[in-house]
Amino acid sequence: MVQENVDKELMKAFETDAEITFIRARAGAGKTYLSVAYALYRASEGDRVAIFVRTRSEINQALRIAREIRSRLGDRAKELPTMIPMTGKEALCRFPPENNAVIKWWCRIIDCEFLNHKINDEFRDLIQNQQFSSIREYFIQARDMHLCPYFALQLAASEHQTIIVTHPYLINDELFERLGERDILIIDEAHNLLKPITARINARELKGSLRDLNDNEIQNMIINLWRRGDRHKAMKISRVWSFTSSPGEVIRINHEYIKVLPPDELIRERMRAARKIFVISSTLYPINMYKKLFARNIKAEIKIIPGFLRNTKTKIHVILKIGLTSRYKERSEKTFRMYAKVIQEIVNKLNKTTLVFVPSKEFASNLYRELRWTVVLDETDLYQIESEHVISVMGSKISEGVDISIGQKEPELVIIAGLPYPRRDKEYLGIINLYTKYYKIDARTLLTTMETSEMLSRLIQTAGRVGRKKKGAVIIIDDRITSIPIKIPIYSNIKELIASLRKFFEKSHVS
Ligand code: SF4
Repeated sequence: MVQENVDKELMKAFETDAEITFIRARAGAGKTYLSVAYALYRASEGDRVAIFVRTRSEINQALRIAREIRSRLGDRAKELPTMIPMTGKEALCRFPPENNAVIKWWCRIIDCEFLNHKINDEFRDLIQNQQFSSIREYFIQARDMHLCPYFALQLAASEHQTIIVTHPYLINDELFERLGERDILIIDEAHNLLKPITARINARELKGSLRDLNDNEIQNMIINLWRRGDRHKAMKISRVWSFTSSPGEVIRINHEYIKVLPPDELIRERMRAARKIFVISSTLYPINMYKKLFARNIKAEIKIIPGFLRNTKTKIHVILKIGLTSRYKERSEKTFRMYAKVIQEIVNKLNKTTLVFVPSKEFASNLYRELRWTVVLDETDLYQIESEHVISVMGSKISEGVDISIGQKEPELVIIAGLPYPRRDKEYLGIINLYTKYYKIDARTLLTTMETSEMLSRLIQTAGRVGRKKKGAVIIIDDRITSIPIKIPIYSNIKELIASLRKFFEKSHVS
């Protein structure tokens, strides 16, 4: 039932009786594959399972895996339930609004005819028996049966044994309840919930209070305002309602209020509903701090698959340790020149389609001055590029894209020039301040831990941009990475690094 390259230790990590289990497994260990396989298996034993992921493309990836598992099983797949997705109205509405501020009330505002076509038995039968491999395919099936895809999937999800949804369905109580009762929750990419901001609003806008009104009165007010043409006011009330009804602790940052939900509060609440919770990520580091932030004073099991990045025959990660770092204090013209010189040498010698990722836009423009390579932040712009070498920023859409190409070519080399530590801006420090009081943790320790964790998440995400269909190599150039137990080869000599990568690329090809 499980693909060959799934880590055996990771398989064992799912065999637990603990109420809450933290699993840290390196990228490429097969976390998503195992989560899907485990969810389907448990569902076949009668459990109702929900998997929570970060993005819609991660949902699609899990659906493809579910389909692959079923096709491998042949006739035996009939014993397994299918897995169905659920996501926001903005992706599943047949006539989505241009502005999402009033999306909650959109169906009533436009008096949508599909409010009377939510689900039928034909749709239920179809998705019970057939595994589709993308949200879009479910949308099309529902649309072609003259149903509202949003309500059809939502009602089906509440009835279905195995579902996959995005993180807001875990965070927001109202959305969570729509999933129906759940025995097992699998929270993937859990590092993303380290400091969930559930709402934000301009401080002046919050002044008008909706305290004395119930949901129905607010709903009618918004719908009437919109229909009378006072859309500005309708959106304003909707934003205030959305802020006040979102979960979390309020903090003020300059002219804004934001709501932050400490993960421990969220997990405690969800433990009331579910028998078992898995908290999974490749970057739960250091794990004890995660345990404290997500499940303070709760008995939990911790499973760690060592290392963060996995070297295989088709994908290699290495560190080049030559006295260079992107540390804010050390950034100077000389640093950028040295980075540019090393990058140019590697690219000249290896001659591969290359993406260079740097920690910030400012860093990118400094590197551009030295290399004159195009700086690209959006995935779609990459297709028009004629050059084979591009600079981009970690945390941009390109660093998160699934299958990316430069021109028509899949990149084979990623150079990570500097570590993507987050900026210590007012919002970041405000959240640290809140957590320091909430968790009673020393502020400095918390700050360093959260920064390291976020840096690692971005780094690992970025490293995933190569080695998908073709062979791929990732070079990290920043000495600070050697203080983290990342368990990949370290080179302190550029010639040796190039020789080793040449050998890697010359050995049998995968296409
Ligand atoms: S009923 Fe469905 S299609 Fe109609 S507005 Fe609402 S979400 Fe959109």
